[in-house]
Amino acid sequence: MPNWRNWAGSVRVSPRRLVRPSSIAEIQDIVRRLPIGGRVRMTGSGHSFTPIAITNDVLMQPSDFGEGIGVDSRRGVARIPAGMTLRDANIHLAAAGFALTNMGDITAQTIAGSISTSTHGTGLAFTGLAGQVEGFGLVCADGSHLDCSSSENSDVWRLGRVGLGTLGILTYVDMKVVPAFRLHAVEEPRRLADVLENFDRIVGSVDHFEFYWIPHTKWTLTKTNLRTQEPPRSRSRSGKWWTKTVMENYAFGAVCAAGRMAPSLIPRLATALPSSGRQEFIESSHEVFATRRLVRFHEMEYSIPRRHLVEVLRLIVEAVERSNLKISFPVEVRVTGPDDVPLSTSFGRESAYIAVHMYRGMPYERYFRMVEEILLTFEGRPHWGKIHFQSANTLRSRYPQFEDFCGLRSRLDPRGVFLNEYVERVLGI
Ligand SMILES: Cc1cc2nc3c(=O)[nH]c(=O)nc-3n(C[C@H](O)[C@H](O)[C@H](O)COP(=O)(O)OP(=O)(O)OC[C@H]3O[C@@H](n4cnc5c(N)ncnc54)[C@H](O)[C@@H]3O)c2cc1C
Repeated sequence: MPNWRNWAGSVRVSPRRLVRPSSIAEIQDIVRRLPIGGRVRMTGSGHSFTPIAITNDVLMQPSDFGEGIGVDSRRGVARIPAGMTLRDANIHLAAAGFALTNMGDITAQTIAGSISTSTHGTGLAFTGLAGQVEGFGLVCADGSHLDCSSSENSDVWRLGRVGLGTLGILTYVDMKVVPAFRLHAVEEPRRLADVLENFDRIVGSVDHFEFYWIPHTKWTLTKTNLRTQEPPRSRSRSGKWWTKTVMENYAFGAVCAAGRMAPSLIPRLATALPSSGRQEFIESSHEVFATRRLVRFHEMEYSIPRRHLVEVLRLIVEAVERSNLKISFPVEVRVTGPDDVPLSTSFGRESAYIAVHMYRGMPYERYFRMVEEILLTFEGRPHWGKIHFQSANTLRSRYPQFEDFCGLRSRLDPRGVFLNEYVERVLGI
């Protein structure tokens, strides 16, 4: 029996040693005692779809070391234990009157896991999580501990904010934070043609916008969020439970399960999704950004330059319609601003993100490869934590500072103790 598996159930491993260190000193000890040729990795919460986190040698699991968060309110920076989940970080920050400025759509990930794969949310005026990193602590291959920021070990900080777990073990992450705020949220179905025609105007005029195209229909479900300090206007507890738990998880899960048993039913089942109605509410930012995901799936996501989004999405819609594929999961579209993190999927460009999903237990490779072929012709960069079929041969030219990152990695870890098969493939080692 494997004793570690990821959330999607697609990556399983029985490492020689599975350990949950309870202090930085214990991590240093484990790294120092590694025999010649030994390897060690730290997982986050296992929410990557790729085998990026694992090794079959020494696998460490995260802990927040029983520590809370320290907020430097003058600088607007919070020190978060690397193994703390975003969910717990949000609770600590809210109690101190602060919030992360932007995040993705779940909070089960650890802060270290999130930044290491370039996890992002949506909003053109905002970056992904790695772009919000002010500093971090790192246990290196020789067991030493480095504090890294723009003023200390700045090269490690600059290149290492998205590090794929290859530079060492992160011990804390200093994140930029902002005073707590609320989001005025509107969630409603809209026609795909209308969203695509107005896409540039919409993403330029609201803080956070995303939409889900429902394959086999001409409809999307949209989410628009405006940052506000207006008083809360919450959904009722039962209304929230009905939409978020029953409709978005149990009912949607039942539709997916029925579609898996009888794929020919999927196009007809899909027509039920846009009838979810309109919702408007004002709640604290982290309650709006994140939702619970109980339905398990496989996912591929690419970033492309934002200017190509409308053309690329039309090509994907046409390709799906021409194929005989039956797809029960919506295609998700988000945007972010550019950042300066060398291995970030948004490095140096305004980006649009397109994510395709397949319900667990259904074959995904043909669908994902078909979409990937389109994305690759538009300078696509795959999410490091999600399924893709690329290696360093194709990735190298997509990141202008790829070689700088690889140089730093081999300087910090010449024996390759933090490597695994996945990172060897994508970094060309
Ligand atoms: C349901 C679901 C929803 C998702 N939503 C989004 C989304 O909205 N936006 C988005 O961009 N992505 C999303 N993802 C992907 C997810 O955010 C990333 O895969 C993220 O890396 C997972 O974090 P984790 O804590 O589970 O880390 P893991 O997947 O366990 O590990 C990721 C990487 O981090 C490294 N790592 C972890 N801890 C440390 C440490 N202390 N030191 C060094 N390296 C470390 C691991 O070695 C590995 O390389 C989603 C995934 C799922 C399953």
